[in-house]
Amino acid sequence: MTTLNEFSRCVAQYDPHALPVSAAQAIVRQWATPVTAIERVALRDALDRVLAADIVSPIDVPSHDNSAMDGYAFNQAALANGTGSVHLSIAGKALAGHPFAGRVDASQCVRVMTGASMPADCDTVVPQELVERSADAASIRFAADAVTAGANRRLAGEDLARGHAALRAGRIMRASDLGLLASLGIGEVEVRRRLRVAFFSTGDELRSLGEPLDPGSVYDSNRYTLFAMLRRLNVDMLDLGVVRDEPAALEAALRSAAASADVVLTSGGISVGEADFTRQLLQTFGDVAFWSLAMRPGRPFAFGRVWSGARPGAGAPALFFGLPGNPVAVMVAFYQIVRDVLLLMSGATTRPLPVIHAASRRPIRKRAGRTEFQRGVAEQDAHGHWHVTPTGSQSSGVLSSMSEANCFIVLGHDEGEIEQGERVAIMLFDGLI
Ligand code: AMP
Ligand code: MG
Repeated sequence: MTTLNEFSRCVAQYDPHALPVSAAQAIVRQWATPVTAIERVALRDALDRVLAADIVSPIDVPSHDNSAMDGYAFNQAALANGTGSVHLSIAGKALAGHPFAGRVDASQCVRVMTGASMPADCDTVVPQELVERSADAASIRFAADAVTAGANRRLAGEDLARGHAALRAGRIMRASDLGLLASLGIGEVEVRRRLRVAFFSTGDELRSLGEPLDPGSVYDSNRYTLFAMLRRLNVDMLDLGVVRDEPAALEAALRSAAASADVVLTSGGISVGEADFTRQLLQTFGDVAFWSLAMRPGRPFAFGRVWSGARPGAGAPALFFGLPGNPVAVMVAFYQIVRDVLLLMSGATTRPLPVIHAASRRPIRKRAGRTEFQRGVAEQDAHGHWHVTPTGSQSSGVLSSMSEANCFIVLGHDEGEIEQGERVAIMLFDGLI
């Protein structure tokens, strides 16, 4: 068994006392093993699940050439000169679902509606707005340069070609994917089983909802934040409640979490002062590194593996993330470090989160040598340019700064002070959260 310390020593920039965010992200990614079990689910139940195998299109979509407009279908030979006016007699009509069965020659056309199969011999459609109909409605006339050969026709297989991969394994299924599979006539798909994530909060000061708030205590908010962030990732959750700062309680919670989940998330109890007791405990049945990340908020961070048995390697394994206790730090650490790994372990193909740039409306204090994720309110001006204003308090304990914000302002590891008007990277919450 390679231990995390052995592995981490080979990582460039590995310094557990000031670990750059990018190095932490790279290390945790290496330990993500995707779940392998597969389930077959009905199409509607596939929403937000991870596709287990490529879907190869069994048919052409559309299955036949068809008209993209309401108009008249004819053969491009009628445009031969490309000048003057074209005069065609109407041989019949085709509606979506009601094809025209006859044949036409170059002097004829067929009245077609959008989605109607292209009649045999026809390859071009002139939209009805561009034609003049004769008084007896038996023929049409239009300018030869009004359409080009082959115009306004959708080709068979243009959307999806038979035999080609329509969707790739690893895809998280969205609305369009469900529609796309339905267009192929596919009513069931194979998806990976959901990742199982157990989580709990630690701290003697924490009270659960419904309990009285005695002096010095606070309500446990992290479990609700974690619940919501995990829900968005569509994982199976196991909420183990609040665990006291007592070795026996903590050990029991961690080992039972490892027994039933793929991943264990905790919050609190890993900052300096508290860490010693947790650290010792985690060495007895786990392989866990305690990091100080070069990141703000979210400096203390523990990562590794725990087992349900009495020593490392014994019993069922789980990946372990010890998040800080401060409520904003929990969210930042989750989005910046944990989220990607949970998606990878779910079997999903991941991409870096989109970042856009905005001009800061205020100077921002920042020291080089750590990555900061400040909370900001971004908006577009009348010219479409993005601006961002940091929220009032940037304290890692002030959760209202997250609710007030609509983006993270991402200040890179090497960046220093930001001047008013300077462009900064932002990560919008919409779509992410
Ligand atoms: P810790 O990392 O355990 O020292 O916690 C740091 C700060 O976060 C302390 O002020 C804790 O009271 C607070 N905190 C820890 N866990 C939670 C939680 N689950 N909900 C709300 N606040 C918490
Ligand atoms: Mg604590």
